[in-house]
Amino acid sequence: MDVPSRLGLTVEEFASLEDHLKRRTYEGTSYRFLPDYRSSLEKGTVIFEDTIIRGFPKIPRTLVLETGIPRHFDERLVAEEKLNGYNVRIARVEGDMFAFTRSGLICPFTTYVVEQMLELDAFFDDHPAVILCGEMIGPENPYTAHHYPEVASLAFRAFDIRDRSSGEPYPVKERRGWCDDHDIPQTAYLGEFDLDTATDRLPSIIDELEREQREGVVLRDPDGSSPLKYTTSSANQGDLAFAYSLPFDYGQAFTFRRLIREAFQSHEWDEEGDERRERAQALGEAILLSMTDTIETVDDGERVGEQHTVRSDPEAIDRLLDHFVEQGLTIDIESDRHENGQRVVTFTKRVQRTNDKIDAYLDGTIVDI
Ligand code: ATP
Ligand code: MG
Repeated sequence: MDVPSRLGLTVEEFASLEDHLKRRTYEGTSYRFLPDYRSSLEKGTVIFEDTIIRGFPKIPRTLVLETGIPRHFDERLVAEEKLNGYNVRIARVEGDMFAFTRSGLICPFTTYVVEQMLELDAFFDDHPAVILCGEMIGPENPYTAHHYPEVASLAFRAFDIRDRSSGEPYPVKERRGWCDDHDIPQTAYLGEFDLDTATDRLPSIIDELEREQREGVVLRDPDGSSPLKYTTSSANQGDLAFAYSLPFDYGQAFTFRRLIREAFQSHEWDEEGDERRERAQALGEAILLSMTDTIETVDDGERVGEQHTVRSDPEAIDRLLDHFVEQGLTIDIESDRHENGQRVVTFTKRVQRTNDKIDAYLDGTIVDI
């Protein structure tokens, strides 16, 4: 079958997408991928010579659990923990294992790391035509670092198994069973509920995640379809703090949506007086304190950027740094050392706008905002 029909598209539909596909070669294997959202195909879809790996779908969100759940689900739903890290899809294509990041790029570092961590060969021997989807989490993370007490450096947690050509998910029970069979660690299972029980129980589940500064939940139909997400206030505020530490690079796009989430949560939780004020204060601090820290850093003559630490075999780190260079990122190495045979590198991804604008404003540039 030709590529358009394998994607379920007409020749014309595929032709209108082709300009948006990018081409890369990874260790001699050539592939195309779709790095942005387009209506007819999932972002992150990858096209190899004979194989298609579907992109991971965008998960919609509800702002109000009590009304969003009955609107979205038919009868029953499964709740699992939503983890804060980076999305990875793992697939075996003609004998080679690849780990793809969200946009569909093969990440050489992640590919190396997951092959070390997981028994992937045995898994794909049993399930050759699937994509194993999960989150890479932990503090030593080249893309999205977040502290989890159970993860010292970087770990994989599966949350989905999908058919690689159709993108259809497998039922939750089946997926969890397959992962168990192969000792693949998974995101926490929080229960299966009917709709009334779900709306009753979820606030306390969220509350508990909130206290542990964890991100939230993803709810699904037990057949694996219709995912829906809901996040804790600590996740919303953590995102804001990050975005406002680099306000001119990330701040604006992040802000409105996250403020809205906080407002609806405060309403649904029936917060009163002091409680609501505490949220308001924490929200203000997440925004303002991150910005003032950044302004002060720049005023001291230092540059700001996205700092990350990674720890792995020297070879994996080399591959990661090369990968960043290939993507046109500028990386400043802050420290580079060896510990127990592994290389530990702290680096900063340089951002331009925040540094330039803050410099200019500190210098008295007159603005019309
Ligand atoms: P996108 O939806 O494009 O991935 P986003 O940053 O808006 O971007 P998030 O708000 O983080 O996405 O929510 C969706 C992401 O959550 C998924 O892409 C996946 O990487 C991650 N995730 C973490 N835990 C789970 C889980 N249990 N089930 C599904 N997705 C999960
Ligand atoms: Mg995320």
